Amino acid sequence: MKILVVNAGSSSLKYQLIDMDGEKELAKGLVERIGIEGSRLKHSAGEKKTEIEQEIPDHEAAAQLMLKILQDPEYGVIKSTDEIGAVGHRVLHGGSAFTASVIVNDAAKQAIRDCFPLGPLHNPANLMGIEACEKVMKGTPQVAVFDTAFHQTMPPKAYMYGVPKMYEEKLHVRRYGFHGTSHRFVSRRVCEFLGVSPEGKRIIICHLGNGSSLSAVKDGKCQDTSMGLTPLEGLLMGTRCGSCDPAVVQFIANNPLKEDGTPLGHPVSVDDVLTMMNKKSGLLGISGKSSDCRDIDSLADAGDPDATLAREMLIYGIKKYIGSYAAAMGGVDIIVFTAGIGENNAYLRERVIDGLEFMGAKIDPEKNKTRKEAVISACDSKVTVCVIPTNEEIMIARDTLDLVTTGKVRDN
Ligand code: AMP
Repeated sequence: MKILVVNAGSSSLKYQLIDMDGEKELAKGLVERIGIEGSRLKHSAGEKKTEIEQEIPDHEAAAQLMLKILQDPEYGVIKSTDEIGAVGHRVLHGGSAFTASVIVNDAAKQAIRDCFPLGPLHNPANLMGIEACEKVMKGTPQVAVFDTAFHQTMPPKAYMYGVPKMYEEKLHVRRYGFHGTSHRFVSRRVCEFLGVSPEGKRIIICHLGNGSSLSAVKDGKCQDTSMGLTPLEGLLMGTRCGSCDPAVVQFIANNPLKEDGTPLGHPVSVDDVLTMMNKKSGLLGISGKSSDCRDIDSLADAGDPDATLAREMLIYGIKKYIGSYAAAMGGVDIIVFTAGIGENNAYLRERVIDGLEFMGAKIDPEKNKTRKEAVISACDSKVTVCVIPTNEEIMIARDTLDLVTTGKVRDN
């Protein structure tokens, strides 16, 4: 069966068509600037690549264009949309309602709508993507795969915040965690790769990309994760500040600065401060130059003190999470690095593991040069350290296939 994986943003729609017979990617693409001047589609099928610039007023038009190019005589890979067995959608927030992926029906759509306040930027866009595909592919099953679902096994002691309990009971204020599809894929794949069972294994997954999160996975189930009610909590990220004293929000709201560092002269709203914490902080905010770890590396290697500080803060933060998750699980058997930084940045991996010999983790600098699936720990390391490239699309496609063929997700 061929499965179409869709990730809809507020002005974008990313897609990938996967032949589940061999889990082979047939084509992928991105529709950008939906509803904005300069909208375009970028599409590739193997070596063949094309770009189309045209007016794309809404998500339905984007979905139509996606189907058109997938059936194009030159760049397409299917003759008819009937060949698409089902569509799997990435949905950011499933709240506490979803512990696994689901076939989309009216109740599921309502539950996604109910999570709009928890994922105000993503969930409405994700639902727009679902509804657009429903319209242009009538009768094709649609599946929703939630970024939060894998973390729903966290116990209350890990997911509760220390604010009055009624905020969780009435308003669902709690830690949810994100990147769940990646954490789930990687936690399964690393066990397959090492030929071990997830049962009895204590795994720490470091998903380090533009957005970063760690998870503690015991017996294949998530015990804890670093992101919270929103993806702002946890590690220092590309443009997000990560965890900080909540009183910082109030202090900055009352004493905001202009871009040039001079006082703005009047208070700003909490929303304004959170926008700054989400979009202008992290590696970008500390370095003052870039949110991209490659740039931070080049700058730091050339002696830039702010980029060096940003990099040191990131490394220190990851180390602290690894230490705390090892303590929370009573030890650690496997540490995995994944996503853009985790898969590619050997320096950062080495620095993170450096000094963790006390808990049995030791890196092999030669093995660590890899950018592929590999064990990178030394032969005498008690903890197995691995690089496992993530593949959220395959996980979404697998869940979609399972739900439409057997009615349930295997290995949730
Ligand atoms: P992601 O959000 O997973 O796409 O990851 C983005 C981050 O990964 C950025 O900070 C990039 O600097 C980093 N990254 C992506 N590719 C590479 C690469 N080939 N080498 C080093 N860093 C990379």
